[in-house]
Amino acid sequence: MGRGTPPPPLGHRCSLRAVGALSEGDGSPRATAAVNFTCMGPLKDLAVVLRLTDYSETSQIATLFGAEQGLLRVIAKGARRGTKTRFATGLDLLELGEIGFVPARGDAQLGTLTDWTQRETFTGVRRELVRLYGAMYATELIAALTEEADPHPELFDALLKLLRGLAGPPPAAPQIPIFQFALLAAIGYEPMLDACVSCQRPIPRGTPVYFSAGAGGFLCRDCEVTHVEKWHVSPRLVGTTVGSGVPSAWFDLLDYHLTHIAGRRFKTAPELARLLAQGNRPPL
Ligand SMILES: [Zn+2]
Repeated sequence: MGRGTPPPPLGHRCSLRAVGALSEGDGSPRATAAVNFTCMGPLKDLAVVLRLTDYSETSQIATLFGAEQGLLRVIAKGARRGTKTRFATGLDLLELGEIGFVPARGDAQLGTLTDWTQRETFTGVRRELVRLYGAMYATELIAALTEEADPHPELFDALLKLLRGLAGPPPAAPQIPIFQFALLAAIGYEPMLDACVSCQRPIPRGTPVYFSAGAGGFLCRDCEVTHVEKWHVSPRLVGTTVGSGVPSAWFDLLDYHLTHIAGRRFKTAPELARLLAQGNRPPL
């Protein structure tokens, strides 16, 4: 390689012929164009594996959530475990890795994954059911409530924080409603929880509080009568915050809101709700 020629970035595939043209000092426009064309490598990102579906004997369709790309569906040729392929470690759910990919073009629905380098496996989430279900629920929410080609870097950060937290020593339960709230904020559905969403007045202490997903927040006693769709807020939540209140009660309320937005129940929600409620039981 000629003096001053930077090494090709990881993931780029410059042909020897093109690099040779550079090393000979051929600065003609034709040679430059050839190098640029040949060096157009795949795009790169840092991504978490949300979902894997078998596609053929050797391939999978991977739903990924990238720091810069957001939701991304790609075909991972030869990615299935046990096959002798370029993805030596195989892709697995709930892992973080560096990816190289070629985006979908034309009529193609799927891009193509060209590189996968595993970075974090969050194996600690598998030591307790509530941690595993918390992580699976988070990935289910992202797959259901974000769109392809719609980046959410702040949500990516919230997901990494959750996965690291669930894999580490902190208690699992309080982290889950914090993530639900971060996701709602990221997709523009942050609920109003500090006043009545209808009349904007503070909610008097000691009075029943309702929550309306359609209205997007708490309702005071005066306003709730005009709303059909509403949820009676647990008295345990009144006066607490998402990070400080009873986690299972916050989970139930925010899951109600998320379900309303998605228009369907999340598969992992009932079991996670059960596990969180179990955690609230006083010891015998
Ligand atoms: Zn009101």
